[in-house]
Amino acid sequence: MEQILNIKNLKKSFKHNDVLKDINLEVNKGDVVAIIGSSGSGKSTFLRSLIDLETPSKGEIYYKGQLVNNFYGVYKRELKLLKEEHNKRIKDIKYTLKVKLKESKNKKEVRIHYNFLLKDEKEKYTKKKQELIGLLKESEAFNKENIDKFALKEYKQKVTIFNNYTVLGNCTLALRKIKKMNQKDAEELAKTELEKVGMLDKANSRVNKISGGQKQRVAIARALCMSPEIILFDEPTSALDPEMVNEVLNVMKSLADEGMTMIVVTHEMNFARNVANKVVFMEDGYVVEEGTPEEIFKNPKKERTKQFLNIN
Ligand code: ADP
Ligand code: MG
Repeated sequence: MEQILNIKNLKKSFKHNDVLKDINLEVNKGDVVAIIGSSGSGKSTFLRSLIDLETPSKGEIYYKGQLVNNFYGVYKRELKLLKEEHNKRIKDIKYTLKVKLKESKNKKEVRIHYNFLLKDEKEKYTKKKQELIGLLKESEAFNKENIDKFALKEYKQKVTIFNNYTVLGNCTLALRKIKKMNQKDAEELAKTELEKVGMLDKANSRVNKISGGQKQRVAIARALCMSPEIILFDEPTSALDPEMVNEVLNVMKSLADEGMTMIVVTHEMNFARNVANKVVFMEDGYVVEEGTPEEIFKNPKKERTKQFLNIN
């Protein structure tokens, strides 16, 4: 069994809001992982953290055994905070000095004392700053070495559809820009993928003329063009009219049958039950329970899972 992703102790905070508290998940080749859980539990933040749309605050992401996340963003933020704090301290020290000078008789002593404080503050700041810059450079180098190879772009499903492009144009654009393919090869490949999602007959339609379900299918074809190793779906059917939900779910099911590895955040419990081989129940930034659909839907162990699924 080939491991595609291994996520360890992933944490993500926004200011003081700890959204992801400790996420651990292993995804093997061919897995279809369904993530379920109530709104606000951190499902989207989790997916976004996997594709570099968010920088995790802590934790590790391994792609095929290689560490692929880094803390470039974290160090950058720390550096900014450090600068802000330093400027504030300097300002405070200078202000107090001014006040003390007015009050004091021995102005020379006051000056010496505060000059010492200023020097000390500046030295500490420079030292910390150098450390952080070192870490930044390291993670930047790491980025260049590893993250590019990781081909994050290939792995995103949430691709924008350009409304004034045709269905075919939407698929070939990425191939030409990112994969540097020529028009003829790009079209050939795009047509193969469009056929898989049942959209070949609409290849020359403008995207603003097709339905929401068809748009999602084009988005999937476009993702497939990049031959991804894993596709992440964040509620792919949530914005669709009920009659269009199934056409998208069917395309996803056929991808799963072909062995595509996928992580799907979904409220479609039937999809989770029938297509996924691993179901993850998230709550409040934690994975509360994970297991096969059988285990989660028929025999959940945790009280909270039972409540969520309405099982007594
Ligand atoms: P879900 O997809 O499970 O509904 P989300 O991951 O979208 O949950 O959100 C989880 C929590 O994280 C929410 O409380 C939300 O307000 C917060 N959150 C998400 N993104 C941001 C952000 N960019 N800045 C601040 N808070 C955020
Ligand atoms: Mg969400």
